[in-house]
Amino acid sequence: MALIVRKYGGSSVADAEKIKNVAVQIVKAKDEGDQVVVVVSAMGDSTDELLALAQQVAANPDSRELDALVSTGEIVSATLMTMALHDMGYKAISLTGAQAGIHTTSTYRQARIIQVDTTRVKRELEKDNIIIVAGFQGVTEDMDVTTLGRGASDTSAVALAASLGAKVCERYTDVKGIYTADPRIVPEARPLAEISYEEMLELSQYGSMHSRAIELAQLYNIPILVTSSFVKSPGTLIHGGEFMEVRNKVSSVAYDLDVAKITIVGVPDRPGIAASIFEPLATANISVDTIVQNASVDNITDLTFTVAEGNLGKALEVVRPVCESISARDCVGDAKLGKISIIGTGMQNAPGYASRMFKTLSDEGINIQLITTSEIRITCIVEESKVKDAVRALHKAFELDKND
Ligand code: ASP
Ligand code: MG
Repeated sequence: MALIVRKYGGSSVADAEKIKNVAVQIVKAKDEGDQVVVVVSAMGDSTDELLALAQQVAANPDSRELDALVSTGEIVSATLMTMALHDMGYKAISLTGAQAGIHTTSTYRQARIIQVDTTRVKRELEKDNIIIVAGFQGVTEDMDVTTLGRGASDTSAVALAASLGAKVCERYTDVKGIYTADPRIVPEARPLAEISYEEMLELSQYGSMHSRAIELAQLYNIPILVTSSFVKSPGTLIHGGEFMEVRNKVSSVAYDLDVAKITIVGVPDRPGIAASIFEPLATANISVDTIVQNASVDNITDLTFTVAEGNLGKALEVVRPVCESISARDCVGDAKLGKISIIGTGMQNAPGYASRMFKTLSDEGINIQLITTSEIRITCIVEESKVKDAVRALHKAFELDKND
């Protein structure tokens, strides 16, 4: 008898019919004699709808109340799923995050899990119940409800898998797995059989999964199987072990259109300048992604960094007075940018990846504005309108359409 920890995303439980379909899948696992713990997200877009509702009653809703509000989304899907299981004649119980023992910090909207007390879950498993846990939420020491950040039901599932000692955390969603590129843009994109935690962490920056779920999985060495709740598919195994196949070192091409850049021209090159620019941005809670500063000529340099498009206006407001005070020549913003990355392990030790990427983009007539790299990623910032063509060209150039 194995212990299965499984998570179903919002699209898998979007309506009554889908909930009943998932219940059938859960029952199959139970019938095989396994113990089953299922984490569910809120139905469809219901978290967004609850947040929008809050905006209608208050310009600036209180975060404690917001957390209590949005946590109900997952409670709705967990209770409905449990009722569907009862209707099929199975023993099942729904648990909120608090009831499932998920203890968190009190940072509302972004709470972190401190500890999972599995006593109740284990007791219910012993009673032969299928357990449906409301994802995305936990409880503080003071019994206040918290949420773990958007998309964090993934993190709830991995935390439960780790603390219950499950061998793997299964994540069911509306796609077949982790793809070599977004299949809506690249029709030849295919699901990968496996991917490393490190690569997946990079990909999570592009919204494919809650990054803290992957960090947690890596920390506790819990593989995550990403697969579809709609079609049969072997899925993608995210893991940290030996890779069975020798494969093309680039595993995927990712992109993001939500990129804007700010360039500060003619910055005096002396200690403290970068701090004077980025400290107020941090205070204003604006996250900065890529930062590039050139070597200076005559003690004058240019500094460029990127932010999310929605933050461009606010970032310029923060940075302009600083530019004046340090006598920088100019400060310009550009929202029409996007970024593309090739991701894969082992790139750093093998020459030629960067040049192949740059050559591919140049053959497409795409100008690269900024370049950044990490051990397992090369990223280029380009004009937003060129991003999709770039993704298609890179997918082809790195032969990601071919099987490993
Ligand atoms: N329902 C939450 C959200 O939409 C959490 C999740 O789906 O994982 O962000
Ligand atoms: Mg943009």
